[in-house]
Amino acid sequence: MNKIVEMKKLNKQMLACRKCALRAECKQAVPGAGSAKAKIMFIGEAPGKKEDESGVPFVGAAGKFLDEMLAIIDLKREDVYIANAIKCRPPHNRDPLPEEKEICRQWLEKQIKVIQPKLIVTLGRHSMNLFFPEQKISEVHGKALRKEISGLGKQVFFTLYHPAAALYNGGMRETLIKDFKKIPKVLESL
Ligand code: URA
Repeated sequence: MNKIVEMKKLNKQMLACRKCALRAECKQAVPGAGSAKAKIMFIGEAPGKKEDESGVPFVGAAGKFLDEMLAIIDLKREDVYIANAIKCRPPHNRDPLPEEKEICRQWLEKQIKVIQPKLIVTLGRHSMNLFFPEQKISEVHGKALRKEISGLGKQVFFTLYHPAAALYNGGMRETLIKDFKKIPKVLESL
């Protein structure tokens, strides 16, 4: 089966998922968007209000900022894959609970298995902590980290601040843009 067909099948399964209570409180699951053949996969936190309404990840203000940063490195959404750690919007945008992250992680791992990205870019600490629970984002942002993930094999990660956190924080915004610009070099080195 090719990646596009596999991803379509997986999306259907995610849309039908009722494994935790989040699905009952949101409008729809937001599996992800972009190319199943992408070299770079971005992983954010969870859908917000606009994403819940549209079914598309990163369509609000943080999404616009992400699009702007992609444009700086000459990429479009269609060139990458964008997903979230959690596929359903938590009520009132609260932080996802550990058990919700654990349950939804299986979908994320399946997405990674289909895409087999050269580089996973984590956006924010929730996404980073899925793979690096001991790390602090303030210490490792803008760095490539390598890790053997059980069932997934060796994977290279690049950790960034979350665009929503950086959007209205001048210093963090500058740091995020500076880190983001490193992505092409990191990818080239793999
Ligand atoms: N939109 C998303 O889809 N994910 C986030 O983490 C933030 C906004």
